[in-house]
Amino acid sequence: MTEKKTFSCSNSGCGKPFDAHQPDDIHTIASVEKKKGSIERIYKCPRKHKNKIYWSKQEISAL
Ligand SMILES: [Zn+2]
Repeated sequence: MTEKKTFSCSNSGCGKPFDAHQPDDIHTIASVEKKKGSIERIYKCPRKHKNKIYWSKQEISAL
């Protein structure tokens, strides 16, 4: 089952919300900043602006 998160368009003067669905069950942390090992996905807002979202693995602390 995949989760979706809502972001606001980063295009200046737009800011329309759009939904980003996570690419798989492993990469569940969404960020607008690129991180090590993250997956890049491009989503379009309702006005067709492209927004890059990076999905990274959840850090699991093994205590
Ligand atoms: Zn937009």
